[in-house]
Amino acid sequence: MQHRKIAFIGAGNMAHAIIAGLVSHGYPASMITVCSPTPVRRDKIAQQYGIISTSDNVVAAQQADVIVLAVKPQMMAEVCQALQHSVDFSQKLVLTIAAGIPAQRYHDYLAQSLQLIRIMPNTPSLVGKGVSGLFAEENINAEDKHFAEQLMQSVGSVIWCEQEQEINNIIAITGSSPAYFFLFMESMQQEAEKLGYSPTQARELILNAAEGAVELAKSQSETSFATLREQVTSKGGTTAMALAQFYDQGLPQTVANAMQSAISRAEEME
Ligand code: NAD
Repeated sequence: MQHRKIAFIGAGNMAHAIIAGLVSHGYPASMITVCSPTPVRRDKIAQQYGIISTSDNVVAAQQADVIVLAVKPQMMAEVCQALQHSVDFSQKLVLTIAAGIPAQRYHDYLAQSLQLIRIMPNTPSLVGKGVSGLFAEENINAEDKHFAEQLMQSVGSVIWCEQEQEINNIIAITGSSPAYFFLFMESMQQEAEKLGYSPTQARELILNAAEGAVELAKSQSETSFATLREQVTSKGGTTAMALAQFYDQGLPQTVANAMQSAISRAEEME
């Protein structure tokens, strides 16, 4: 990966995850700066990875080639407006991981011509198993796209969105979906506990079953999910009875509705 000076504005969970991924992939710590007004988190990350820590967003942004905007969406306007008059963005690449802020908004906040890429990561990035949707504006060159792609590959896999609104599809498919799977596992755990298993035993059984299902599906990449399901389902057997309940209660349609609701909410938030 090409080495450029990176400033992370925001020292939260996501910035931490990406910094950890970069450093573990051999990115030079001396080329990474983390900025946040609150020293505790920032300094902890800096000490852990040997990177530079500061409370001064402006200086960090001025000195960086790549600026990663990693603050909460509600802080973004204030953070950008504070950089507006002090930082020349003409030679810099701006990456934003904030949910629900369209690219045009950054042009308004920063009032300069920008090289901007929107990134929608998900929480498994915290364990290096993330999926990130990336959208680059038209003026972004191949080198900058490649850099952003490699940056996010340090915490998982990436998919490019051709149109900006596709980011909202990525939110429904990968951004929010860890919660869908957690709800499913939570429901299974509740029933397993009613059957007499301790919370720890139930959790372990369900995690192992989920992990096994994922590994099985990955090992048979040519086999559809439908076929994999059929392979576990004998006619008239126990799995068939369980699945009949899911179909009777309309699970496939419920999942579709849930994903559409996530997309609608993402559109509303823009
Ligand atoms: P977080 O609350 O953990 O971190 C936010 C950080 O911003 C904190 O370190 C805070 O000190 C810092 N901050 C606040 N004001 C600041 C300022 N003026 N200048 C510099 N830093 C400032 O948030 P997070 O979960 O890491 O999320 C960060 C961004 O990532 C959000 O915009 C969120 O939408 C996006 N995102 C998060 C996830 C996720 O799963 N956590 C997924 C996708 C996108």
